[in-house]
Amino acid sequence: MDWNLHLQPLFKKYGNRQHPLEYKNNYQLVVMIVLSAQTTDAMVNRLAAELFRIFPDMKSLASIKPEKLYPYIKSVRGFRKKAEWLVKIAQALADCEDIPLSIEELTKLPGIGRKSANVIIREAGGSPQGIFMDLHVLRVVPRIGITQELKPEKVEKALMEIIPKDHWHAAGMSLSYLGRELCRPSDPECSSCLLKEICRYNLHNF
Ligand code: SF4
Repeated sequence: MDWNLHLQPLFKKYGNRQHPLEYKNNYQLVVMIVLSAQTTDAMVNRLAAELFRIFPDMKSLASIKPEKLYPYIKSVRGFRKKAEWLVKIAQALADCEDIPLSIEELTKLPGIGRKSANVIIREAGGSPQGIFMDLHVLRVVPRIGITQELKPEKVEKALMEIIPKDHWHAAGMSLSYLGRELCRPSDPECSSCLLKEICRYNLHNF
């Protein structure tokens, strides 16, 4: 199966979409990505305006005690730990002109793992170094039949082996949006899906 060929219509449809987090610059992007772990993007979008009114840049975060952030982020899961991470990230980056756009550098920062690093690199316009994995991608890829692996690093590796590097950014976003919009955990809308002719889950249900 030429998966890359069959996935192209999906990349065309969803590949250029912006991440659902409504950030306005790279500083906000990093902060919102850290806050969004195990929390919905909608919840982070709701608190963003007030948070960034008070803390408009890395420098404004770098000198505060994490507790100062609590009133603005207390609706997100793990807000105490995330407040600590954000201040440490700000201290590490406050004097940098730009946020580093490499997985190696980004994952040295607290609260930023490979998944977050891949999203930051894509959204900030860096060259792809991996394919971002979220819960949607991890559900959709085995359903389609591309791999039966379930662990994020193995699913990512399987995709990286079949998709050329210049499509890695589009791949993560496309598979995530497919999962959000059609390939939901229960009752996926296969009849409306661009992959219905080749998807193992759909073919086996007939
Ligand atoms: S055909 Fe159905 S199960 Fe397969 S990817 Fe599309 S929505 Fe998901």
